[in-house]
Amino acid sequence: MSQPEAVSVDVLRQHCKTLSMTTAAQMVDEALDVARREDWSLEAFLHHLLTQELAGRRARRVARLTKESHLPAGKTLSTFDQKRLPLRVRRQLPQLCRGEWIDRADNLLLFGLPGTGKTHLAAALGYEWIADNRSVLFTPTYQLVGRLLRAKRDYELERELRRLDRFQVVILDDIGYVQQSREEMEVLFTFLAERYERRSVVITSNLVFSEWNQIFKDPLTTAAAIDRVVHHSVIVEFGSEMTSYRADQASKRNRRKADEDAITDG
Ligand code: ADP
Ligand code: MG
Repeated sequence: MSQPEAVSVDVLRQHCKTLSMTTAAQMVDEALDVARREDWSLEAFLHHLLTQELAGRRARRVARLTKESHLPAGKTLSTFDQKRLPLRVRRQLPQLCRGEWIDRADNLLLFGLPGTGKTHLAAALGYEWIADNRSVLFTPTYQLVGRLLRAKRDYELERELRRLDRFQVVILDDIGYVQQSREEMEVLFTFLAERYERRSVVITSNLVFSEWNQIFKDPLTTAAAIDRVVHHSVIVEFGSEMTSYRADQASKRNRRKADEDAITDG
């Protein structure tokens, strides 16, 4: 092969741009300077430029996924005090971060009393999954329900569900928010049924399953929703009060008694 004619840096830069190698286009001048000064081999130079391009692409992708995710700012693992988690949950963290379960379209359920860090942990994991190149959407449940209802009224529910399907993980924050109407409950159920065994859902809730009839109203829909969510799922329970159905019942009794006492006192 004959030696190619001398090329200017401008042409190299332009080629990089044409190939959508944004970072390489920016770095090529500097990289050539360093390579000449330090007498790099051809391989070393090419390796350096391509490595920079790959890192740039990765950073741009993570930035895009983060923007699209609507994850709450600052709720990351670095701001999360893991010592406040039950030991059992802390042991589960590395596995949850890795996200092979996402490839299997499993679900993750975070249950516990208000203020125990469910939302923070769900968001923090969301950032980890994005760093691992997965697409995530964080949404308060009432917002998702509103979005689906609007779509349904405009005869665009199918399209909206397809749009949501782009996300490998949808984090439904606070599913315990009480639905007002049958229509709201129905679109929520449709969403869960649609993703079942195909795409992961993460759910945070103050309500244990025995209280889910408050969400889905009738017993059959409630049972069907629980069935779909629980099948292939990891359940993480925060705080010892929530570990058993019996304890849950006892704490409900206590709450009722406290309410009654408060009424009698007042
Ligand atoms: P939940 O969703 O269970 O009601 P949140 O995740 O909203 O609770 O937590 C309530 C507040 O306490 C948030 O500001 C959250 O950042 C903070 N928080 C809860 N748990 C932790 C923790 N382990 N480390 C740091 N901050 C926490
Ligand atoms: Mg919350």
